[in-house]
Amino acid sequence: MKSIIFIAPPSAGKGTQSLMVSEKYHMPHISTGDLLRAASKEKSERGTYIKNQMETGGLVSDEITLELLKERLKKDDCNNGYILDGFPRNVFQAKAYEDLLKSLKKDFGVVIILDLDKQTALDRVIGRLTCGNCGAVYNEKFEESRPKKSGICDKCGNALSKRADDNAETFEKRYDTYVVSTEPLIQYYEEKGNVYHINSGDPKEIVFSNIEKVLGGK
Ligand code: AMP
Repeated sequence: MKSIIFIAPPSAGKGTQSLMVSEKYHMPHISTGDLLRAASKEKSERGTYIKNQMETGGLVSDEITLELLKERLKKDDCNNGYILDGFPRNVFQAKAYEDLLKSLKKDFGVVIILDLDKQTALDRVIGRLTCGNCGAVYNEKFEESRPKKSGICDKCGNALSKRADDNAETFEKRYDTYVVSTEPLIQYYEEKGNVYHINSGDPKEIVFSNIEKVLGGK
């Protein structure tokens, strides 16, 4: 299977769709947000720096992000394609990733942009609950996305939690970061011609079937 890069504004469904693709196609789901969240727990200057950047909605340095990603991509489970959720976030990372792929002798795959308007993304961020154990995502604001038992993951029974950066204030900053850093990246990929746009305002099952069409067409 081809590797997939998901690009989307905050809370547009990258994590949810990555998980659905990962389960069905048995591809590893690599979220740089998750890699960084884990690294932010280190009791070190680096850990504190990452935590601050994440909590204020800015990007973590390209150097740290690339280092964590490189280590992850070297693992054996990445030999037959993987899903990148949240990377690259800017043109510099995209170019560095091309070099990284050359050094690891891996193929590029496809870029899928999940498009969502700002207000819907904000509505989704406010009620989002995530499972720290299996990565499942729920939303207490939307009937169809609530967990069956309040606060508990349907899939693994773990307690759900709210991400520290899922609030209206940090969302504004994350969205601005997306417009400034990530939108030029979309243009960069569009010029290369390997990009698919999918409307992420649709129900998740429809979004997923549109993703499958892209994958099947490859
Ligand atoms: P996400 O889980 O993708 O929403 O990312 C959460 C936060 O992690 C972002 O707001 C950034 O602070 C940081 N982050 C995730 N991916 C990257 C990346 N590729 N480059 C820099 N920072 C990142």
